[in-house]
Amino acid sequence: MNRELITSRMQGYALTTFGMNFEDLGNKEKYTVFSKAIMEDILPQWQASLKKFDGKKKAYYLSAEFLMGRALSNNLINLRKLEEMKEMLEGLGIDYNALEEAESDAGLGNGGLGRLAACFLDSAATLNYSLTGYGIRYNYGIFEQQFINGYQVEKGDEWLSQGDSWSVRREDKKVLVTFKDQTVVAVPYDTPIIGFGGDTINTLRLWQSEAVNVFDFGAFNNQDYDKAVKEKNDAENISKVLYPNDSMEKGKILRLKQQYFFVSASLQDLIREHKKNHNDFKNFAKLHAVQLNDTHPAVAVPELVRLLGLEGVSFKKAMSIAVDTFAYTNHTILKEALEQWSVKLYKKILPDVYKIIVKIDNMMKKELLEKGVSEEKLSEFAIIADGNIKMAWLSIYGTHSTNGVAQLHTNILKETELREWYLLYPERFNNKTNGITQRRWLVEANPRLAEFITDLLGNEEWITNLDNLKELKKFASDDEIIGRFIEIKKSKKKELKEYILAKEGVDIDENSIFDIQIKRLHEYKRQILNAFHILYLYNRLKEDETFDITPRTFIFGAKAAPGYDRAKAIIKFINAIAELVNNDESIKGKIKVVFVENYGVSYAQRLFPAADISEQISTAGKEASGTGNMKFMLNGAPTIGTFDGANVEIVEEAGLENNYIFGLTVEQIEEIKDSYDPVKELKKNKRLQKVVDALTDGTFDLKPQETFEELKNSLLKGASWHTPDNYFVIKDFDAYVEAQEKVGEDFKNELEFYRKAFINMASAGKFSSDRTIEEYAKEIWNIESITTREV
Ligand SMILES: *Cc1c(COP(=O)(O)O)cnc(C)c1O
Repeated sequence: MNRELITSRMQGYALTTFGMNFEDLGNKEKYTVFSKAIMEDILPQWQASLKKFDGKKKAYYLSAEFLMGRALSNNLINLRKLEEMKEMLEGLGIDYNALEEAESDAGLGNGGLGRLAACFLDSAATLNYSLTGYGIRYNYGIFEQQFINGYQVEKGDEWLSQGDSWSVRREDKKVLVTFKDQTVVAVPYDTPIIGFGGDTINTLRLWQSEAVNVFDFGAFNNQDYDKAVKEKNDAENISKVLYPNDSMEKGKILRLKQQYFFVSASLQDLIREHKKNHNDFKNFAKLHAVQLNDTHPAVAVPELVRLLGLEGVSFKKAMSIAVDTFAYTNHTILKEALEQWSVKLYKKILPDVYKIIVKIDNMMKKELLEKGVSEEKLSEFAIIADGNIKMAWLSIYGTHSTNGVAQLHTNILKETELREWYLLYPERFNNKTNGITQRRWLVEANPRLAEFITDLLGNEEWITNLDNLKELKKFASDDEIIGRFIEIKKSKKKELKEYILAKEGVDIDENSIFDIQIKRLHEYKRQILNAFHILYLYNRLKEDETFDITPRTFIFGAKAAPGYDRAKAIIKFINAIAELVNNDESIKGKIKVVFVENYGVSYAQRLFPAADISEQISTAGKEASGTGNMKFMLNGAPTIGTFDGANVEIVEEAGLENNYIFGLTVEQIEEIKDSYDPVKELKKNKRLQKVVDALTDGTFDLKPQETFEELKNSLLKGASWHTPDNYFVIKDFDAYVEAQEKVGEDFKNELEFYRKAFINMASAGKFSSDRTIEEYAKEIWNIESITTREV
């Protein structure tokens, strides 16, 4: 990467893109020309990297979501050019951080599932595996969140308004996708995924939906202007917006069209490429491993069978190819949350695909009868039942692998939720505990900590081999080293304090405990438990002037699905608590509450490094894995949490004594759930009673029509679809308070507290997505890693 060349390219782009001299551009425009100049360097390397996998088996990741965040720093880090480019820009009088901030997040996902896909791409490229991501190029990603009077208000996410320097439109690779009532063109946009060191550069291929006939001249001539562009609008709607709904599967026809659109386009792409070198499909599954990220792309199973049928492959053979090609990742434990589609809708939109699903269902039933399943039991496995298509059943039957995303989750699948399937096909079930990439979540997000680690270990190998962190454990008893670690944590806390002051207008105490819960807003994640604890502390402080607590800042970040009213009410509730607590001078700033606006990947990169304590307090058995928990751990924060998802494995690695585990276990919940009576439970608990009463007793300064009555009812009366206190908030409250008291006590001895934090960081090796991808590659995909040197 030649400095003079980059500079001259930037000047060229300034003129050709903006018609201005480089010096006169604003930061956004400077970012654009700089990223274009970098991209010019990437393109030839990318071409060469793709070639090295020619003729080899490759893997593909089909996902409705890729929550990528920003690309600039990530790309420069992985190209090993960040420092050099920073210096170069400095020489031109440009502040790199200002350019970095000018990039929009590529927020093409809702939360964990989409961010997992992004981490996997980074890890696969770094490990020199060929993994292509296939998804949708949403015009609008996850909505932008604003708070107005404490309420969430959604705005469209215009991430493409300044263009996207990192993608290339591949007009030559477009395909047609046909629905019963519509045919559209799927145009791919390719983004390079640069592995650390730059040896392998893979592709994220996102499809954009466009019209076959963009403009109806006749209609326009007849002055029917709407009709003239109707086909264009209808086509473009398919990739217009990410479904921001991650609580309940709704949205119907458009959502179904989105799923089929990107799945069909991706499979047509694979078949077209395959046909260039092969006359038949005998080797198709030997050359392609396709991972389905949840059931959103499950229509891939019948669609591949349909496409192969068009190529002359028999149904039976095509089915066998599909099973050998596909593998399925399950992300949800709740049976009732498993995705289903109405037969009526499928027949209306995808009648040919539906016919194939019927054939698959019949084939399965025949196979199960042969396996000795009784006629009555057969209905439990039916893919089509009660007018619905069960996508999870289709995914288990139509693939050779079904995996959970943490050990506890996989166990629950095998023993409870998918037990019957597991007994039939035990060899198909396996675990792949999630992971995160240390390149983004440590090297990029926390450069000083990264440097410190490199300094202690004497080399940078940990950047591609996170297990090396365990070598740090021997330093845990060295107070001088813990002191340096503390100093870095404090600098990150100070940075966050300044950012929050600028962004949210709240002044927080940088010496207080930064207690952080950042994740989608869901009842099962129990932000309300955290909120109740804050109200409890506030009450105590008000009642008793001598009540001694370690000063604490409670930081929240979360988006609620726009249609999820109770989640939105919880946001308002927490904002109301913030209003109450932050403005009450009598508590002398001992506690403060901040709900940061518009939590996303870039905000996350500021929050994780500054955390003192990681809130992972979901009801046991509900969080499949969690990955936020891993980001906190890697940045040196102990977990306060339940035995749920990957928390179990985190504690296994870092030690119970270095974390704050509380609350009911999966087994205990199983035992009490049928007799659980939260009203009775609450009567025994005075301090919690007062907190719950505050929901409706005028504690909060609300307008007459505003009330938290519904939140109270959800705990004490239940709702149409769930029992009272479905998530055991009341039952777990005391244990949570106790664990929090221990955190506060422990924090008084800074050195000892941060020793625990340090040990967590040193124990985070297992949670690299490099480890996860290695397992997928070896145990599911059967693909080989190829470095340039070997070619
Ligand atoms: C990691 C991450 C998530 C997932 O967080 P969980 O705590 O595992 O639910 C969601 N959103 C963003 C922006 C993330 O970076």
